[in-house]
Amino acid sequence: MREQALQKLRDVFGYGEFRGQQADIIDQVANGGDALVLMPTGGGKSLCYQIPGLLRPGLTVVVSPLIALMDDQVATLNELGLRAAALNSTLDVQGRRDIADQLRQGKLDFLYLAPERLLQPRTLQFLQGLNISLFAIDEAHCVSQWGHDFRPEYLQLGQLAELFPAVPRIALTATADERTREEIAQRLRLEQARRFVSGFDRPNIFYRIVSKDRPRQQLLGFLRDQRGNAGIVYCLSRKKVEDTAQWLSEQGWPALPYHAGLPPELRATHQKRFLNEEGLIMVATIAFGMGIDKSNVRFVAHLDLPKSIEAYYQETGRAGRAGLPADAWMAYGLQDVLLLNQIMAGSEGDERHKRIERHKLDAMLALCELTSCRRQSLLAYFGENLEQPCGHCDNCIEPADTWDGSEAARMALSTIYRSGQRYGVGHLTDILLGRDNEKIRGAGHQHLSTYGIGKQLTEQEWRSVFRQLIARRLVEIDLDGFGSLRLAESCRPLLRGEESLALRKDIARSATLPTRKGDKPVIAEADRELWEQLRALRKRLADAQGVPPYVVFADSTLVDMLRQRPTTMQDMGLVSGIGAHKLERYGADFLQVLLGDAGDSGAAPAHEAQEIQALALSGMEPEQIARQAGLPIRQVYQKLAQAISAGHIELHHAVDLPPGQLERIQDLFLNDAEDDLPSVRAVAAELDEPLEEGVLHCIRAALVLEISG
Ligand code: ADP
Ligand code: ZN
Repeated sequence: MREQALQKLRDVFGYGEFRGQQADIIDQVANGGDALVLMPTGGGKSLCYQIPGLLRPGLTVVVSPLIALMDDQVATLNELGLRAAALNSTLDVQGRRDIADQLRQGKLDFLYLAPERLLQPRTLQFLQGLNISLFAIDEAHCVSQWGHDFRPEYLQLGQLAELFPAVPRIALTATADERTREEIAQRLRLEQARRFVSGFDRPNIFYRIVSKDRPRQQLLGFLRDQRGNAGIVYCLSRKKVEDTAQWLSEQGWPALPYHAGLPPELRATHQKRFLNEEGLIMVATIAFGMGIDKSNVRFVAHLDLPKSIEAYYQETGRAGRAGLPADAWMAYGLQDVLLLNQIMAGSEGDERHKRIERHKLDAMLALCELTSCRRQSLLAYFGENLEQPCGHCDNCIEPADTWDGSEAARMALSTIYRSGQRYGVGHLTDILLGRDNEKIRGAGHQHLSTYGIGKQLTEQEWRSVFRQLIARRLVEIDLDGFGSLRLAESCRPLLRGEESLALRKDIARSATLPTRKGDKPVIAEADRELWEQLRALRKRLADAQGVPPYVVFADSTLVDMLRQRPTTMQDMGLVSGIGAHKLERYGADFLQVLLGDAGDSGAAPAHEAQEIQALALSGMEPEQIARQAGLPIRQVYQKLAQAISAGHIELHHAVDLPPGQLERIQDLFLNDAEDDLPSVRAVAAELDEPLEEGVLHCIRAALVLEISG
């Protein structure tokens, strides 16, 4: 099984080796076992069911919650030459009937479905009449009521265990915590399944968290290094999403808004544009993102604090999925802390639930205020131990300074206490700075012993002190919604002088953000132009088929192309992400760009066409011509087909098939011919044996000529 799996990885997907636990997982499932897979976003979960699906005879049913993204997944598989379809509400009756027919005839390897459709009695009954090889349940954490993406439809998926006892099941998720994991196993009846828990490190993501000063300017500073990259900017509120998107557009950064309050069609359009276009920024609430498979998202920026480390990890994890360097950037400030506290106070739910949420927020705050390696702390949260500081986060490359904040903290604490634990940060700061205003005088606070004792710090610095006191739970926020502060029990030792407090020094990074060091740009300056040409070609090919560019080739594949600079089709096949099917479809076009003869379509190609024609007339086989002319076979066939259309050569000069086969293919073209001949692609799908597509092009060209007289 291992050998066969590796063969598929190389031939179909074009990758050299399995990553992490992929091989073990595939082994387990391909041999008919169940599996529960926890793997970080970008870890390569899809292959874990796609390869077993190819190795086991029959249909693989993939359950996915996101109808809008199924088409993308199907397009990706089709690009690899695999037979996949999605049954969803966007199809009309005829479309559904076609898929049902294909299923009955065993012509599909993968079927994507939403859980609610799968569980309809009619669907289940239909599937029971088919040969099902595997169930894959994607985004399996949706079954967990404690998780953040609960979908009630998922609860019923446990039924599959009884309805299809002989069919192996694999559930996959990127959500880490133990509790969710247990709930998945139990509700999906996968208690006995083998578990595969992968490391959560995303080494290619650079983490940076800055203290909020002028967030928009800070965002611009961050974006300066991101020209042309696609990314996501997360905001908490719908209004902020819209304002930010508009503002970014005005600043010359193409950006679109996305939140649950937009009309569904607009949301769908924006999502589609984000997937299809390059270098677009999506400004979104957390409503956007689950299942976004776009592999070339290069940054995720947070303008507001996520509620938990899980959320932060998952949202930032949408960057850099194809393994290229990516950035996770966040600006965070006192206001975020106050706001989230307020939201939590007002949220529904029992005390226990609220306590869990509080805990999660505390952990998130601690990560923000951290002065040591972010990655070590992030991984520790997921129970993983990273021995050394990572060297690839803000704190590692520019160590955060701390200062002894004990004295300042005591001033702040006693101001809170003396003013009656009824005021928010603004007023408390005014007292410390000795400001004179109505509120101060009205309360008689100019007489407090702490009035004006904090003048050695600026207002900004005091806010930082309060933020850190709250983040460390030395001070509590009253849940009255006005953000007044109270002392927490835990502040006593500090107040009594028994403990000291090291505070993080906020570095003012308003305008100029130090760019990170030790990090070479992915694309060398000298390669820029070629890179753009490759991207342009990819976009053209993708548009021609109505699929997103990354479905044609991931960025990482183009990068590898630049690195390897293949000069022959054979070498092209060695580029990461180029399997047999993609090599045949796209190899020649990209090779042409790499060899530098794209675009100069003048005398040379005409001359080339004549030469090919002459060689064909002299009786040379297309393969020989390709070798002689040093051209990809696909291109030779293309020229031959043109020569046939033009009447310069005849079909037998280009195509030499065993007796009977040619007739069968011609029948396929003519059989269900209505007005137009079916496309080469359609006929190729009907063939039992794969055939060079160029051969079909030639046959079709000859038929067209014949019919049109
Ligand atoms: P996720 O776990 O988030 O679902 P995907 O399955 O989308 O991740 O994989 C992320 C990216 O990594 C895809 O572009 C995929 O083709 C690529 N990938 C997966 N497995 C391998 C591998 N063994 N070698 C190289 N690239 C891989
Ligand atoms: Zn680090």
